Amino acid sequence: MKECECLKGCPFFNDKMSDTDGLGAMYKQKYCLGDNLGCARYQIFTRLGKEYVPMDLFPNMNERAKTIISRSTNKDAIPSRDLINDVIRNMFSPIGTRK
Ligand code: SF4
Repeated sequence: MKECECLKGCPFFNDKMSDTDGLGAMYKQKYCLGDNLGCARYQIFTRLGKEYVPMDLFPNMNERAKTIISRSTNKDAIPSRDLINDVIRNMFSPIGTRK
């Protein structure tokens, strides 16, 4: 169990993302203060870089993270529209909300 290295700047941990299902506190305990490697956001951060982490990606969205990572690491693949949109959204998100 250890704190994630991204805690200070993470939009999820710092309540910059909506918590519509009310599971935010549980995810923080599970991922941010424990199983960092299981966090979808952390997986993309470590594999691709923070600019590739979608603003609306929650820690439990592992399938989406796998898709983003596999598409980005396949050099012959054309980036998906979703990936391009995620990168552009991150580029133009307000300062302080970027991941
Ligand atoms: S949501 Fe993921 S990347 Fe953000 S602080 Fe928690 S474990 Fe780290």
